[in-house]
Amino acid sequence: MTRIDRRTLLVGATGLVLTACGGGSGPDTKATSGPNIVKPNAGTVVTAEDTAALREKLGAAFRSGDVEQLLALIDPESFAIEDVRKRWTRRFENFDRLGFVTGEWYVGTPTGRTRNGAGGEVEYRGDLVFAHQVEGCDAQQVVESYSAEFRKQSEDAPLELMHLGDAEAAFDPSIWDVADVDAIETEHAWIVFRGKDAARAKRFAPRIEDGAKRAFDLMPRPKGVEKVFYSLTWNDVDGKLYGGVAVGDADAHAYYHPFLDPEELATGQKATTDVSGLPRATGRVGMHESAFDRPDFTDVACHEAVHVLANQWYSGSTAAWVTEGLAVWGERGGPANMARDGARIRSAFGEFERTAVIGREGFYDSPRRSDFYACAGAVYAYLEDSGGRKAVFGTAEKYYAGDESVNEAEGAVDDDTAKLLAATRSWLNA
Ligand SMILES: [Zn+2]
Repeated sequence: MTRIDRRTLLVGATGLVLTACGGGSGPDTKATSGPNIVKPNAGTVVTAEDTAALREKLGAAFRSGDVEQLLALIDPESFAIEDVRKRWTRRFENFDRLGFVTGEWYVGTPTGRTRNGAGGEVEYRGDLVFAHQVEGCDAQQVVESYSAEFRKQSEDAPLELMHLGDAEAAFDPSIWDVADVDAIETEHAWIVFRGKDAARAKRFAPRIEDGAKRAFDLMPRPKGVEKVFYSLTWNDVDGKLYGGVAVGDADAHAYYHPFLDPEELATGQKATTDVSGLPRATGRVGMHESAFDRPDFTDVACHEAVHVLANQWYSGSTAAWVTEGLAVWGERGGPANMARDGARIRSAFGEFERTAVIGREGFYDSPRRSDFYACAGAVYAYLEDSGGRKAVFGTAEKYYAGDESVNEAEGAVDDDTAKLLAATRSWLNA
């Protein structure tokens, strides 16, 4: 997983992700002719009551914070049982220390393999979903799915969990899976850190708060969001946490978390949760060790918070220049960016227009990457100058919510984008 592109989560959003395991379905429910009455529930069938009962037991185990309660629900013969113990021991300890993470399990029934018409045992594979929510940061639940195996031994037997496997790589790991962590709360931020980074977290908390506050003062506030989640990360995990994009040498990351419907995911379908008025995605910030040497540390904290708050418009794929330009514009303000970087923006803008707006590689992998960041910020400075913040956010939302063909057409940009870039170029006198 060198590159957990945000796209991988949503491409084929309605595709089935279950591993096929065949069998399991009985003589079935085909429409019959004649007087034959087929009892639709004959044999062993996994019902909604069965999944609800298992879900309730898993929920009680989570709320207890006791890993033994969770383990008691899994077949002790499962080869992965020690991995489950390790993962959830750490999670329960971290959630207990943090105190602001709630969670819930979802059990679904994939269609077609959860019945044995002859009345014997039913066994099948499916996805078990754990969804969590960080208080104040996530307006909706953030999902992760696990491969799992289920069994119902007879018509009247309960649904059992035989095996709880790995979390799907695109959803894993979170910061609380890779270290024992603690947190500091400020008005606009949760700051999460390892024990060894506690002094640094405390020292930098006021600047992180400043950066987050500036982003909240600037951006349209996503409903239900009052804080940004910052982690102090380190080399081994930089760019590798849930939702990370591989910009290896960045000093900080905003990790994207699109909101997928946990109930749909538990049946194997990746469908977005699109509750009107609520953000479509959330995010976490990773502040890398190198960020703490930067004189503009507060700007970096603000830049990443802008990324997170802009996820409210997120639809699955947004061009790099759109997201980075908004964050660059937001971190210091358009006029300050232009005053500092005007000359290099003018010299790089032609190349930016030709290469950087097409695809993520042209932007992030270029030796002129930092010039392109500045150029992208200039597009928003132009929008603000010509139409105020309304134009800035209206344009950003249009791009964020648009589809990939508009944002990243192969080898070309659409007409509106071409016009916007040309207008920015003449505004710049570039
Ligand atoms: Zn950025």
